[in-house]
Amino acid sequence: MNSSSLELLQRGAEELGLDVTAQFPAFERLFELLQEGNSRMNLTALKTEEDIVLKHFVDSLTCLRGGYLEGGLSVVDLGTGAGFPTFPLALARPELVFIPVDSTRKKIDFVRETAAQLGLQERVMPVVGRAEALGHLSEHRERYDRVVVRAVASLPVLAELALPLLREGGLLVAQKGDISADELNAGRRAAGEVGGKVQVVDPFGLPILGDARTLVIIEKLKPTSPKYPRREGVPTAQPLF
Ligand code: SAM
Repeated sequence: MNSSSLELLQRGAEELGLDVTAQFPAFERLFELLQEGNSRMNLTALKTEEDIVLKHFVDSLTCLRGGYLEGGLSVVDLGTGAGFPTFPLALARPELVFIPVDSTRKKIDFVRETAAQLGLQERVMPVVGRAEALGHLSEHRERYDRVVVRAVASLPVLAELALPLLREGGLLVAQKGDISADELNAGRRAAGEVGGKVQVVDPFGLPILGDARTLVIIEKLKPTSPKYPRREGVPTAQPLF
């Protein structure tokens, strides 16, 4: 990464109240591994250095707003793709343990190899699978402190996929763009149906670029009915609300 990209990363992190200068070498290595991975398979649509720094690295770090991801928590990253937001968050917050989940094996293979290259294999433990299936396995159901999610599905779909994985008192941290009132309303009703409640809606601008983002926090208040999540594809094809 060139020096202006590192400066952008630092400025973006500073806007979020973070200092990631000690992690610069790890972010540079992550950048290289993404470029290499992208030349072998289609990992991410973002190709320029500036886009990767601002729209992957800094954008992922915005999930730390509000302090919902602090301390020794287990965090599922649902639909992690090439490892976002897992990698920037794991670099910025060494206490967190991540379980990046994706249904695409080659993406999870990339995440596993990248975690090892970054020395994060002890606390980044990827799982290949669909949320609809993992949500019914006792090793994953109602086990985790947090589910974090970026760019995967609408809020009602996310509620159905994520809440079964959370322990009572756990939080879904959903990073969205400019969420509509209709989506938010449907998300509130879906959250209630699966044992949760929307506790926080925090709109903000992406550092430096200003693009609209919203962090939505759903707390799990009671156990999720065993009928959720519904079978593969149904949550998306027929959202709860
Ligand atoms: N979170 C990443 C990011 O922000 O760059 C990736 C976003 S990508 C648009 C969505 C990812 O979610 C894809 O890699 C897809 O395979 C995964 N995905 C979608 N639905 C899923 C499900 N039901 N269970 C597991 N993974 C899913």
